[in-house]
Amino acid sequence: MKTYEWAIVGSGIAGISIAEILTRQGHSVVLVEKNDKLASEATRDFHEWLHTGALYTLVPDKLITLRFILGAIDDLIEFYSCYDRMNLIPTESGLTINKAFLGWFDDNYIHFKYRVKGRKITLPWLIGVARSVHLIEKIHQHDWLRRRAGELAPFIEGRRKRVSALIKELLNSKEMFKTVQTPDFTINSRLLLNDMIAKAISDGLDISLDNKVHKIEKHQYYKLLLGSKEDIQAKNVALCTGEGIKYFSDVKTKRSYAPIAVVSGLTKDSKSFVELDYFPKNCINLLTKENGIGLAGGISLSDRSKCDEYLDYVVQKHQEIDPGLKELSRYVGIKTEITFQNQPRGYLYHIVNTDDGVWAVIPGKFTLAFSMAPEFYRRVYKQNPKKHFKTVSNNKSNDIISNTVWMDKYNKSKEDKNGSDKIT
Ligand SMILES: Cc1cc2nc3c(=O)[nH]c(=O)nc-3n(C[C@H](O)[C@H](O)[C@H](O)COP(=O)(O)OP(=O)(O)OC[C@H]3O[C@@H](n4cnc5c(N)ncnc54)[C@H](O)[C@@H]3O)c2cc1C
Repeated sequence: MKTYEWAIVGSGIAGISIAEILTRQGHSVVLVEKNDKLASEATRDFHEWLHTGALYTLVPDKLITLRFILGAIDDLIEFYSCYDRMNLIPTESGLTINKAFLGWFDDNYIHFKYRVKGRKITLPWLIGVARSVHLIEKIHQHDWLRRRAGELAPFIEGRRKRVSALIKELLNSKEMFKTVQTPDFTINSRLLLNDMIAKAISDGLDISLDNKVHKIEKHQYYKLLLGSKEDIQAKNVALCTGEGIKYFSDVKTKRSYAPIAVVSGLTKDSKSFVELDYFPKNCINLLTKENGIGLAGGISLSDRSKCDEYLDYVVQKHQEIDPGLKELSRYVGIKTEITFQNQPRGYLYHIVNTDDGVWAVIPGKFTLAFSMAPEFYRRVYKQNPKKHFKTVSNNKSNDIISNTVWMDKYNKSKEDKNGSDKIT
């Protein structure tokens, strides 16, 4: 049996990005997945929202989540710009998206609608909104030319004056919502994953599908992964199995449920948005996709049994805004976080060396994988991964990557109507 340097268990964005970075460096790697396609769980269910930190401007966490997210985009620019379809252009004042070709990112910007009228509004909420709007203005202006990227000092400059002016504006506003266009946009996740997998395969990645690892045995010179289809031998293991991490290591995980409706009937003018409210259960969001399709949701819940009732409310609220919107189907996405010792929670990534040669890895957000994978490499090998390398274009790897849920639901609805314009 071949002994790989690395076995990566789980092929969501965590497993794929780590497999890509290790093969990029010339290591022998096998990616093991229990399902018949890659990226077929949380990385299939997700919204494809590239966070630039806007959502976390409402979180009172001393800007730590914002810092992680700015860092992830900084690393995306630094370590992934060799990919032809990586179409983000860093500028001195914000990011632009190259639209000359179909790339990893779309200029489908997400709008925030903060409720400021229509119910008793509390001053702490208005202060929170003003602070959030101010920070979003700063993210729009952020200098991405690696002179100050990731530094928070510019976010604090002029804050008091601007926040006071915004509070005055909100108090005098006659509108139901304060609306801002955030710098956040959407991801063509299948293009991105395809590029990474094609590159990793060209660097020698092996893939073992339909192979559920149920035990990891420690031997003197290697670990033996006992799988449902085949066993695998490797010197090191990265566990990228989402919640499944807890079966192989002593880290604790926390799960929450994200109910989502796949909706149709959106028009070309429909915009991606989030309605934000002092009471989180009133928050709703919509991420627009191709062909009038969208993902409608709201918050994540800790109790799965409440998801249907909550989604009924969400769909009804969306239909009040857009009566043409129809629900095609619904599903519940599962979000997993590691809770480890005193590490701060929030949507950060976690890389935990749980045993000799065994690592547990969870990104917290798809967006954070761009920092998590280089950082994983640094933690293990104490050096930066390569920034310059040759990529390949190989659409064949598409066949082993699952579609997103919304793509499948759209294709199914077309099939039912005997249509042929499939999205893959
Ligand atoms: C509904 C929803 C919406 C989200 N929206 C966004 C968003 O818009 N933007 C964003 O940045 N983040 C978003 N997130 C978060 C993001 O999707 C996740 O953080 C990320 O996809 C998790 O990736 P992962 O690789 O850790 O997990 P997964 O994608 O779940 O991958 C884990 C893989 O491990 C495999 N596996 C498990 N056990 C075994 C085993 N024993 N043997 C072999 N294989 C195994 C699974 O089959 C799976 O393929 C969202 C999450 C959810 C749930």
